[in-house]
Amino acid sequence: MTFERSFMNFVQILSEEEITPEISPSALADVSKEYSLRSIVAIISNLRESEQAGEADVIVPLFGPVPENEAPSYLFKHTLAGRKTVTFHIYTRDNKSWNEEEYQSFAIIVDILMMHTERFLLGKFVKDSALTQYLTGLPNSGGFIAYATRLCESREIMNYDSFFFNLKSFGLISRRYGLTEGDEIMKRYSQKLREFCEPDEMIAHFGGDNYTALIKKERTQKFLDYIASIPVYGMKNGKQEEIKVAAVTGVYAVDESLKEPGQLISRSAMALNYAKNVANKPYVFVNKAMSTRIYRQKQIEDRYEEALANDEFRIYLQPKVDIFTGEIIGAESLARWFCNGVVLYPTEFVPILEQEGMVASLDLYVLKKTCEFILGWMKAGIEPVPVSVNFSRRDLNYKHLAREIVQIIDDAGIKRNMIQIEVTETANEDERILMTNFLKNLKEKGIDTAIDDFGTGYSSLSNLRDFPVTMIKIDRSFICNEAVNDNDEIVLRNIIHMAEDLGIKVLTEGVERQDQVELLKSVGCHYVQGFLYDNPMPEGDFQKRLIKRNYS
Ligand code: C2E
Ligand code: CA
Ligand code: CA
Repeated sequence: MTFERSFMNFVQILSEEEITPEISPSALADVSKEYSLRSIVAIISNLRESEQAGEADVIVPLFGPVPENEAPSYLFKHTLAGRKTVTFHIYTRDNKSWNEEEYQSFAIIVDILMMHTERFLLGKFVKDSALTQYLTGLPNSGGFIAYATRLCESREIMNYDSFFFNLKSFGLISRRYGLTEGDEIMKRYSQKLREFCEPDEMIAHFGGDNYTALIKKERTQKFLDYIASIPVYGMKNGKQEEIKVAAVTGVYAVDESLKEPGQLISRSAMALNYAKNVANKPYVFVNKAMSTRIYRQKQIEDRYEEALANDEFRIYLQPKVDIFTGEIIGAESLARWFCNGVVLYPTEFVPILEQEGMVASLDLYVLKKTCEFILGWMKAGIEPVPVSVNFSRRDLNYKHLAREIVQIIDDAGIKRNMIQIEVTETANEDERILMTNFLKNLKEKGIDTAIDDFGTGYSSLSNLRDFPVTMIKIDRSFICNEAVNDNDEIVLRNIIHMAEDLGIKVLTEGVERQDQVELLKSVGCHYVQGFLYDNPMPEGDFQKRLIKRNYS
């Protein structure tokens, strides 16, 4: 057999083979005979040891068994990209020597082996990087799931707790040290985490400051104590500074309810969210109340559209009263959700619908129903009162909202001034512009508007000038104290006077006691809403109230 034939055969088979480090004996069958080959081993090592300390040589058997403690017959050295060298150790049968020609021609075979090894290493690198975070070298989400899946399959996962944590000072670190040094700090921090782990535990880095961990149950408290404060250093102007990195953590104590590995992440993440936003604690364990909450939230999202179509939403009306005359001067429409025999209140579902961008359809629905009520009263010969409808700030992203509101009112065939639109104020500058335009738009079209929850959060007197509104509704927190104090009274008096000067009506919400009425009378507030007069009620009940007209 000629060299060309055996060589072509080798290349041919190699290119058809699946890329594993080992080269099948069939590919090297002819070549091995010709060169009396026994074994070929590739040893991959780092060119500059000092820079990648800790990474051991990788021994890759390409052909035949790996001989132990035996000097190879021939060595061929190649340099790989990425500061690595590959040395091919060739062992011949009975240590047979080649002549010069054989040696030269085998060098070509080594080139091919080199290509094969590179292809293999590249494949391995791609596979590894699918499982490790490039910066810190810790497993990433893929690596976490791969490991967790194995633990779940063997049920060993029952011995672990699952953690999801963020760094408290992450933003601070990036600002103080900049991106490059920030990355170095994350690497040092990750190294400290690695040091804590026992061989069967794992810590993963999902990127940013998102870390997860699977720690043996008996070491959970130790781990929480450890990550409560990990000292690392940062370099600033050539000097080392010590930083104590604290974590906020959600813990899921793995139990029988675990169905699939993804829940190790989602449940601990849910607890982390709770630790950060609700409990404000360094760590929180998943508990029943938390999962019930999430479950409720999911149900609300899933069932909403259907519920709207099925008329599960009912509109309750709460009278607005003139405290000087006792007369009903209007009402507010408030949504209730009759969901499988339970009444859900808007405080429960409105925030979720807002978050999911679904609240506009509810608000427009409430508006439609409200228009129908008013029309119904008129048809029944009852003098109607204006009714207000709440519109969420989230609705403002909806482009033709004002136009749609007018359309609904006009289509219903009622007067535009029978509807008032309530919105709450915002601190966000972009939203403010949207809001001002929205209010102006409605005013031009002859629809009354109100600022809801005035005095809480972001509303302020100076903004009143810019907001073309008909009414402000003072939040009940202003009068809900056991006894209203002098300062409250001064603030109230000033709000009312300023609003009056600007031609804006004032209503106070949440009036429950007679002494609050007296106070409001003394500061000159005419209109109220509150349990003292009536709770929000179904439309049928409200109609009866409306016929009576007066609280006397
Ligand atoms: P809000 O607009 O400030 O509505 C007044 C809330 O205070 C109502 O709660 C009402 O039942 C309650 N309330 C009335 N009088 C008293 C009182 O004397 N004392 C106390 N403690 N509370 C009183 P509700 O119906 O649970 O509504 C809560 C909030 O949900 C509303 O606050 C409003 O912001 C929002 N909301 C209600 N319906 C809708 C809706 O259809 N669309 C939108 N976007 N939001 C709505
Ligand atoms: Ca309101
Ligand atoms: Ca309010």
